[in-house]
Amino acid sequence: MIREIDTAEITKNIKEMCIQVNYDLSDDMKKALVHAEETEASPIGKKVLGQLQDNLRIAKEDQIPICQDTGMAVVFLEIGQDVHLTGSGLEDAVNEGVRQGYQEGFLRKSVVEDPIERVNTKDNTPAVIHTRIVPGDRIAIRLAPKGFGSENMSKVYMLKPADGIEGVKHAILSAVEEAGPNACPPMVVGVGVGGTFEKAALMAKEALTREVGVPSQKAWVKELEQEMLQKINDLGIGPAGLGGSTTALAVNVNTYPTHIAGLPVAVNICCHVNRHIQRVI
Ligand code: SF4
Repeated sequence: MIREIDTAEITKNIKEMCIQVNYDLSDDMKKALVHAEETEASPIGKKVLGQLQDNLRIAKEDQIPICQDTGMAVVFLEIGQDVHLTGSGLEDAVNEGVRQGYQEGFLRKSVVEDPIERVNTKDNTPAVIHTRIVPGDRIAIRLAPKGFGSENMSKVYMLKPADGIEGVKHAILSAVEEAGPNACPPMVVGVGVGGTFEKAALMAKEALTREVGVPSQKAWVKELEQEMLQKINDLGIGPAGLGGSTTALAVNVNTYPTHIAGLPVAVNICCHVNRHIQRVI
């Protein structure tokens, strides 16, 4: 059975999601911050973690953005193959939702039309849109507005197969160490291992939208996530980069098959404002 969905429905949901996700962080992130404050060893680090939570409360109560950098809108769409879209074009509908959300929510417009000419588009469009066709008759929309303090500290490494798991660990730790306070810690670290150059980067981005505290289903990946979280926290960068035992709240790793000759690793770093929201229509 084919199900018809008007793309106006996508616009409406994206508009609401842009506002909601910029005013109120998801429960997994809030829980991670509470836990971090309880376990943080440094008094100044504890204080910063408390202030970050005060900031979250104020943003929610006053309906204002959590951070001045309200991000570039990254949208993941999973469209059921039994859906027939009607109305305006899909990407136009997504961008219209971003336009309306950023205008009505008084969210900062951070997108420039050309990377060199740098004229602001004044409505935060276009979004970066990733679309997959999947079985079923539903559309899953995931939105993750990405701040660039942390985006700028992200890296892709094209390792050799012989570099193995130790090479992967070294890549993750080097990226985080180099990011230091610039990534607005405590961070969430998204990692993509395998695939191709662009697949690794995309997996790292998607890994940031996985709920904090939910480990990988693969045993070796789960082990890697736990070890990396411990080693990153041992770096001592701490909340706001002022020192402490909480440099990251989570390390989420996604993997994919790769070529016999390569081992791509991407590390996409997100700050403590790791905004992610999902709706299914
Ligand atoms: S990196 Fe995150 S916390 Fe830092 S300014 Fe950007 S959105 Fe805000």
